[in-house]
Amino acid sequence: MRIAASLGRIGLVALLAVSGAVAAFATMAPAPGADPLPARTPIVEVLPIDTEDALLPAPTSYIREEQFQRGDTVPVFLSRLGIADEHLARLAKLPVLRSLRPGTHVSAVVSAEGMPLSVIFLNGRDSLVEITPDGRAAERRADFETRAVMKSSVIRSSLFAAADAAGIPDSVAMQLADVFSGDIDFHRDLRKDDRFTVVYEMHTLLGRPVRAGRVLAAEFVNQGKAYRAVHYGSSYYAPDGKNMRKAFLRSPLEFSRVTSGFGMRRHPIARAWRRHEGIDYGAPTGTRVRAVGDGVVEFAGLKGGYGKVVILRHQGQYSTLYAHLSRFAGGLRRGARVEQNDTIGFVGQTGWATGPHLHYEFHIAGKARNPFSIAMPAANPVPARDLPEFLAHAEPLVAQLDLLASVTTLARAE
Ligand SMILES: [Zn+2]
Repeated sequence: MRIAASLGRIGLVALLAVSGAVAAFATMAPAPGADPLPARTPIVEVLPIDTEDALLPAPTSYIREEQFQRGDTVPVFLSRLGIADEHLARLAKLPVLRSLRPGTHVSAVVSAEGMPLSVIFLNGRDSLVEITPDGRAAERRADFETRAVMKSSVIRSSLFAAADAAGIPDSVAMQLADVFSGDIDFHRDLRKDDRFTVVYEMHTLLGRPVRAGRVLAAEFVNQGKAYRAVHYGSSYYAPDGKNMRKAFLRSPLEFSRVTSGFGMRRHPIARAWRRHEGIDYGAPTGTRVRAVGDGVVEFAGLKGGYGKVVILRHQGQYSTLYAHLSRFAGGLRRGARVEQNDTIGFVGQTGWATGPHLHYEFHIAGKARNPFSIAMPAANPVPARDLPEFLAHAEPLVAQLDLLASVTTLARAE
């Protein structure tokens, strides 16, 4: 409790002598001889009090902080900040205050008489807005401080529920799922009692968390098997430097259902049994089709029953084919380089297709293979020349994961 620590009892008594401050501290009036109760309303700090001085001057201003709530009107909110009635109408007209959104924390320095000396809050564009006593609003860049936060949770129903339970932001849970998506299928593989630990950035302003940043390191224990990842450069690597990302995505569509698998089937148009050399994904016309791996466009054009088709050549012996497209992505032509997850075209039903779907083929050394039944190679590891630097970077993060892993194991054993 910052207030109690920095103020002491003398400061409190002095404050209570000031009529304007009594309301603000109504919840923490000290009983005689007792320590002051902690404030229930979020009061940040009181200015300026010198506790060394026996004869304390009455404070002339104090800081209050409130969160703009759904249903708040600007005048009601400003009066909750301790601003006196005669200033409300004038301030409430300021456009910058009219654009306050629910959830925004606002700090105000208010004189003992209820005169606003400054009103400060963070706007949606990450600028600090300060309203000065003359009613002008100045905007300046907010200087965030970034801290590393470490949290753990156990899966009871879903990843997001587990994250919520530990106070981990959704954006972090989403990154977590992405980091481990090469090894864990979060739709099918997750089990009750799976657990995870995550170290992530939290951007703070004036000591308060504002928003989460990147995941720096994480461990996920899925069905008893532990996976660890450390952020380095623009990728995530296992502590030994192997890339967490696979060289190929599981699917060329983000959200999809397989309508026809790999293997023998009766061809719907040729009406003959033939080997289906790919995977069909049912999806509406116009759905984005992405390159499953880094590569070069070998073909983009019309090809018989395939209709509009893209063929990509990847590292080693791999190539992929995407057929029945309605159109190609802009700039896509033979020889163009594409990166994993780049859009290459859009689902359609050109060529021999009974409805809009994507026909996808995965080739190794020119032979069609079932992408679901082969072990996908990992993307490139940390380059050999960077490995010492990576290991030095990873070591303290891994040590933290070790520490928390042992703590959670102990806690579970009890
Ligand atoms: Zn097909």
